[in-house]
Amino acid sequence: MVAQVIDGKAFAAKVRAQVADQVAKLKEENGITPGLAVVLVGEDPASQVYVRSKGKMTVEVGMNSYEHKLDAETSEEDLLALIDKLNNDPAVHGILVQLPLPKHLNEDLVINSIDPAKDVDGFHISNVGLLGTGQKSMVPCTPLGCLMMLRDHHGSLSGMDAVVIGRSNIVGKPMAQLLLGDSCTVTIAHSRTKDLPDVVRRADIVVAAVGRPEMVPGDWIKEGATVIDVGINRIERDGKNKLVGDVDYASAAERAGAITPVPGGVGPMTIACLLANTLTAACRANGLPEPEGLTA
Ligand code: NAD
Repeated sequence: MVAQVIDGKAFAAKVRAQVADQVAKLKEENGITPGLAVVLVGEDPASQVYVRSKGKMTVEVGMNSYEHKLDAETSEEDLLALIDKLNNDPAVHGILVQLPLPKHLNEDLVINSIDPAKDVDGFHISNVGLLGTGQKSMVPCTPLGCLMMLRDHHGSLSGMDAVVIGRSNIVGKPMAQLLLGDSCTVTIAHSRTKDLPDVVRRADIVVAAVGRPEMVPGDWIKEGATVIDVGINRIERDGKNKLVGDVDYASAAERAGAITPVPGGVGPMTIACLLANTLTAACRANGLPEPEGLTA
């Protein structure tokens, strides 16, 4: 079998176009422009690139983007004061604090100081609890993007065996909750899992979120399974820098029914879902119906 490639870049463009349409409608019919505030503390180069591209795409879909760049030495008190100001600003519907934060700042404290209704990353403890109990919440962007691609490919996921490799709070755990919410039978595998190949071979859906280059070889994949590769790993091969996923794409594509490439799979969906979450937050804040197809 040669796998169908799930084109995350094209799908993300479609999601952004849907968001842009809904934003235009919201402006015209309700006079509301969704606003996303992004807070960056320090000069981490990768974070600067992410923040720049988030700001650019926010403006491209017609939303307001508010960037707050603070020095690396910013005190916790000052950061919390800024978040409090954004929590109380009606023009701001979504707040994202770019992680990682410098070591002297307590990440949990900072994230949990964001108004859960504006927590478009879905990391606030209230949103984690709401998702875990199947209630309306803000859903972390990367797993939401994976879910959208799976629903688009399969329609219903009900009854499918899904294995999520990785148990992080930002990808693995919320991904497992979302798959459970769509009635999959879910296994969460991790670094201590016994006989990982055997666990993966049972899965109709494999979501790999580990951060180890090409650790899942094709012969772990059940014939016809759908493979979602979240991993982003920089490696050097043949003297060139390359991005690869957690799955060995070439061998997995020979057995899978469908597979996401790296780059061009899950990555572009993450920012598209951040925009979708900001739109959802703006609709909820104004008591309006949520945008269809853009939430879990
Ligand atoms: P993390 O380091 O927080 O978690 C990794 C998980 O992998 C852990 O739960 C650990 O138990 C598990 N693990 C480690 N070694 C293992 C092994 N040998 N076998 C099985 N499981 C093992 O990572 P994360 O933040 O969840 O990110 C995972 C990957 O996804 C990284 O490559 C990251 O860059 C990528 N990522 C991509 C996006 C995106 O937008 N595409 C977003 C977030 C993360």
